Amino acid sequence: MPQFRQPRLSKQAKNHFQKVKDLIKYCSYDQPYDSSDVIWLYGQKRGLVDLLNTYKIPAIYHADIAANLVCKSCGNNEFNLKSFVGTEDDKNNQIHVKLVEADRKFKKKIIDLQEYIKFYPSLVLDNPLARKIQKEIESQTLPICILDNFYCFRSRIVGDAKVFNSVDLGAPEVGIARIGRYNHPGQSVLYVSESRDCSVAEILDDYHQPALIWVQKYHIDGIDNILDLKIDWGGFLNFESILFTALLNNNVLERRMSRDNSTWKPGYLLTNFIADCAKKAKYNGIRYNSSKYSDSNIVLFDPKHKSIEAVDKPDIFIHDPKPPVVS
Ligand SMILES: [Zn+2]
Repeated sequence: MPQFRQPRLSKQAKNHFQKVKDLIKYCSYDQPYDSSDVIWLYGQKRGLVDLLNTYKIPAIYHADIAANLVCKSCGNNEFNLKSFVGTEDDKNNQIHVKLVEADRKFKKKIIDLQEYIKFYPSLVLDNPLARKIQKEIESQTLPICILDNFYCFRSRIVGDAKVFNSVDLGAPEVGIARIGRYNHPGQSVLYVSESRDCSVAEILDDYHQPALIWVQKYHIDGIDNILDLKIDWGGFLNFESILFTALLNNNVLERRMSRDNSTWKPGYLLTNFIADCAKKAKYNGIRYNSSKYSDSNIVLFDPKHKSIEAVDKPDIFIHDPKPPVVS
């Protein structure tokens, strides 16, 4: 195919180009023909201009961007404003549009907020994005879940000969608790995991090493209004808030924290703030993805809530996972 000199892109055009350059998975050359008609089989067929408009790219850049695009499948680079292109299937593409939009709007502001809160944790509401986070939480428009007939778990490593009871596996009392993702130092809250293995992953430095573990099972029946910040990538489109999409997509809320004894955990400042907002807005807790395992965790703001019941005494078991598959 002939090589044309591609027009150089201006800085603004380049920014727009970045949004779409990886979306051209197929073009008309990749499709089979029936006599002289193209049968569009590969990728979702759409007009190139339509695609550029979906990404809100101003028309003045369309021709230059089209001339710079390359088909991922065949390397064709002869696109113009009349071309059709094949993108990934519809749903993936919608998710992609949403993530690009979320980052465009909030990524820089999130980074600024993370810096600001390190210096002025108690003055964070001076930051406009912090105020927006609080407002969204108070608007009661974010997803919630209800804990009805719900089983969950907490674990502790067996350290010595002491036999633990349910109190030992429960929430640390006021003044004893260390800072956590959703609690300030000394505040008593109950963290539980949705599966036993997830609760084990939460307490181990290396999940793939065998260990001796105490596990307490709980039954919870009737705690409503849990702020649900769990990301379900399949249903991600249902998460309407663009701001929380940006926070979740940038791993702001599920950063892994080192287990050292440092009292300085800046990665928890923003989640502590979100917990304060959620409590003030009368949520009973927050559900969130584990940073170490595929299931999720829940923090319950009232560890003495009458609907939380320990099931029997804690059990001891040998955690002996299969070694990870090395490929
Ligand atoms: Zn192609």
